[in-house]
Amino acid sequence: MFNPVIINGTDVLVRLKVIAVCGSDVHYYVSGKIGDQVVKYPFAVGHECAGVVEEVGSAVTMVKVGDRIAIEPAMPCYKCDQCKSGRPHTCRQLTFLGCPGQASGSLSEFIVMPETSCFPISAHMTYDQAAISEPLAIGVYAVNRSIPMKNAKIGILGFGPIGMSVLLPALAKGAAKVYVTDEINERLQIARDSGAMYAGNVDNTDVVNAILKQEPQGLDVVFECCGQQEAIEQAFDLLKPGGVLMLIGIPEFDHWSFPVSKGRHKEVTIINVRRQNGALEEALQMLSEGTVDVGKMPTHRFAFADTKQAFDLVASYDDGVMKAMIDFY
Ligand SMILES: [Zn+2]
Ligand SMILES: [Zn+2]
Repeated sequence: MFNPVIINGTDVLVRLKVIAVCGSDVHYYVSGKIGDQVVKYPFAVGHECAGVVEEVGSAVTMVKVGDRIAIEPAMPCYKCDQCKSGRPHTCRQLTFLGCPGQASGSLSEFIVMPETSCFPISAHMTYDQAAISEPLAIGVYAVNRSIPMKNAKIGILGFGPIGMSVLLPALAKGAAKVYVTDEINERLQIARDSGAMYAGNVDNTDVVNAILKQEPQGLDVVFECCGQQEAIEQAFDLLKPGGVLMLIGIPEFDHWSFPVSKGRHKEVTIINVRRQNGALEEALQMLSEGTVDVGKMPTHRFAFADTKQAFDLVASYDDGVMKAMIDFY
């Protein structure tokens, strides 16, 4: 299981250089499951990663040995109704790197991926940027799924790596004003430094009041990026009539609840976001062109041997952690 070898002609053996610890990896680490996806040991998590092509199968044409690559963790079947209708992210036979019961993850010196998941990166792109292109793609996709950003007034509730991955492309695409909330001051500072016009701490501020004071008409879109019920209540107060609520966070609980009257009177549109669809190329392009700067996202680094410390740190939310990176040597 942990000795990956090329089996199919289209397989690529990748030597990992860096992985970024994702909140979902930590969910598996702490609770052993996300919803009905339960870890059976031994199992490697991890899906935000970058590396170098070590060996290629006989039929591989898209990459060659020595290429530096970003990795798309989703491995759709390309045959089902979802794949054929342009929705490979909801593929009925989807295999996802580091997902229990699907594929062993990237917390491993080597992994084998189909060539369709390997994206060569430009010479000036760092491995950190390549690994972060995965969460960034989720933000790019969520922004593209919402409304045109030109002059939009938006809220981002929860400023972890996904909240940041929404902020950067939203601003790059012309959002006029971005209002951010979180409960970690260091994260709020990163939001301000990255272009948010407001960043409020939910623990000591009435953020709804503070935002509505500046935007009495309400916000065009709210991106829920923290998986907290409280954020849903805030979103319905913050949205203007006809506003859009994007659900991106992964809650610890099984059912959201929504205020009926506010939702009806404002005719709020709710959109669930399932990872991303086709946004990785755009994320890589934005990183390569410098239209977005993810340099402030990695706040901590660990060696592969110290992976446990990295996971414990992210699980504790201590020390202003945003993204922990794990380096392979
Ligand atoms: Zn992730
Ligand atoms: Zn499919």
